[in-house]
Amino acid sequence: MQRNTVHIFSAFAGGLSLALAAAFLIANISSLGLSQPPEPILKIPVGKILWIAAGVFLGAACICIMAKASWLKLSLVFWLGLNFFAYEYALRFSGIDHGLKGYLGSLSSAFGVSVNTTNLILNATFLFMLLGSIGVFFNLWLESRQIVKIACPQCDGHIAFHRREIGRYLPCPHCKHNITLQRPAQSTA
Ligand SMILES: [Zn+2]
Repeated sequence: MQRNTVHIFSAFAGGLSLALAAAFLIANISSLGLSQPPEPILKIPVGKILWIAAGVFLGAACICIMAKASWLKLSLVFWLGLNFFAYEYALRFSGIDHGLKGYLGSLSSAFGVSVNTTNLILNATFLFMLLGSIGVFFNLWLESRQIVKIACPQCDGHIAFHRREIGRYLPCPHCKHNITLQRPAQSTA
C-alpha cells in the first residue's frame, strides 16, 4: 500500500517537473532576443538559468516517472523543493527584497499571467514537492517500524517482527527451523 503512495506521489511530482521544464522552455523561446538582467547570485543571464533549469527538471521528471527506487525518487523531489527555497532565501539574503519576483518576467509574459501569480504558482509547486516528499518519507519510516505477525510454516508458532525485517532468513524462536520472514498473507501491501 505504501509503495503505491510513493508511486502516486512521485508520478505526480514527475508530472509537475515536466510541466515546469516545458514552461521554462516556452518562456525562454518566447523571450529570445530580449535582453534580460543577469541573475545576482550565479551572475549568469536569467535565460541561461532557464535553459539549465529546464534540463534539470526534464531529467528529474524522467527519474520520477521511470526509476524504481523509492528513496531515489523521494530524495530527488525533496532536493528540487529544497533548492528552490534555498535559492529564494539566498536572493533575499543578498538584498533582493522581492526575491524571485524580479526574474519571472519571461515566464509571466509567455503565459500572460501576472508576476505575482507566477511567483505564487512556483512557490506552491515547490512547497508541495518539499512537504510532500518529507511526508511520504515519514510514512515509509513509520511503516518500516510497524509490527507484523505471522505463523511459522514449520511449527505454526506465532512470530512478531518489524515490517522492515520482511525477507530475513533466520531460525524460528519456537522450533529453531530456519525460515524466511514473509509478508502476512492478509496484508494489502
Ligand atoms: Zn517454528
